[in-house]
Amino acid sequence: MAAARRYPLRPASSGLLRDPAPPVTNTLQITDIPVAGYERVVRGVDASCGLHAIIAVHDTTLGPALGGLRMWPYASEDEALFDVNRLSRGMTFKSAVAQTGLGGGKAVIIGDPRKVKSEALYLAMGRLIDSLGGKYITAEDVNTSVGDLEIIRRATRHVAGLERKDGGSGNPSPYTAYGVFLGVKAALGWTFGDDSPKGRTVAIQGVGAVGSALAKRLVDAGAKVYGADRNIERLKQLEKEIGLIPTSESEILTVKCDVIAPCALGAILHDQSIPKLNTPIIAGAANNLLLEPRHGKMLADRGVLYAPDYVINAGGIVNVSVEFHPGGYEEKVALGKIERIPQALKELWTISKQERIPPSDAADRLAERIVADARGAKKSASCAVPPRSRSGGG
Ligand code: NAD
Repeated sequence: MAAARRYPLRPASSGLLRDPAPPVTNTLQITDIPVAGYERVVRGVDASCGLHAIIAVHDTTLGPALGGLRMWPYASEDEALFDVNRLSRGMTFKSAVAQTGLGGGKAVIIGDPRKVKSEALYLAMGRLIDSLGGKYITAEDVNTSVGDLEIIRRATRHVAGLERKDGGSGNPSPYTAYGVFLGVKAALGWTFGDDSPKGRTVAIQGVGAVGSALAKRLVDAGAKVYGADRNIERLKQLEKEIGLIPTSESEILTVKCDVIAPCALGAILHDQSIPKLNTPIIAGAANNLLLEPRHGKMLADRGVLYAPDYVINAGGIVNVSVEFHPGGYEEKVALGKIERIPQALKELWTISKQERIPPSDAADRLAERIVADARGAKKSASCAVPPRSRSGGG
């Protein structure tokens, strides 16, 4: 391991400190992991509290790298590194297309959430984040909560997505669902020439935070909605509340319908599932839906319109990004930006048609071009000869 630096705990911010901070351990060891194509990847280890974390800052050309903090019992550091790098790059692409003014980053803590979570661990994580001086901003993700972020916030101010009462933008899920709803409408309009969900059938895989909010919007707009979930109680409740039609896990992706909205898991579109689809549209919230990039072409070859996942599900990150506006968070600004998602999708479908490439490839190309253009503009601005001052003589 390379020479490690030690960081003192920064003073806690007054409003959020409820309990006295535990004694500073000063045992956090931070080392760089060189990764080609990434601005900075660091490992943080603190044996005193069991922290073993990696932060990947993929790209900050468009702004500080914002991405959630995931806790997962990875089998090895290599597995965690692979995941955090992949997710971090995905955040750069998502933020670029959604024009959030942010770059892409992600963080993971290696460990079983039932065993390793502690106040000391999150304070050490906060110090690790703080050591990057604002290049990385953290948020909630799989197995981390707003409560965990509040502890991290005592060690660093580079935290987003806290409760509204604490100056944050709150729960992102309703905003993600709103963006997906608008994206579903855009896909209906593109496919049938009429974007109204009235009389259409939509099958939602996973009716959790995003899927249930999407189901409610669709039912309100007159659609017939099928839903599958591991949580049977939730299905029953939605059947009673909004008339959702409970469907089995094994059938939801093969139901004959106008739209399949995957809102549970990634990697569900592959060689086995794609031939069995009975829908002209895939438009949902889950990340990394294609098992491999080539499955984007497989969908297109079967005539299925695909709404690229990180474009249609950007409502949550767009909402969080408004926290960084000069006047602070304002819901109407967030909603206005989310309402651009249908336009972004239509542009991608147009590129896809004109260039005969799948929409997923069109999205990646667009994101890469946005970042490259901004990098070029920054470079030329830094190389430009400053104008001669009128009073400067010479
Ligand atoms: P969630 O955990 O609240 O809901 C997921 C639901 O899927 C749960 O109810 C779970 O029981 C169900 N599920 C799990 N496996 C299933 C299976 N095999 N078949 C059917 N149902 C299954 O999560 P969420 O916040 O609603 O997010 C849904 C998806 O959208 C996730 O993939 C997430 O990464 C992605 N996403 C969420 C947001 C957000 O703002 N919450 C933003 C972008 C992307």
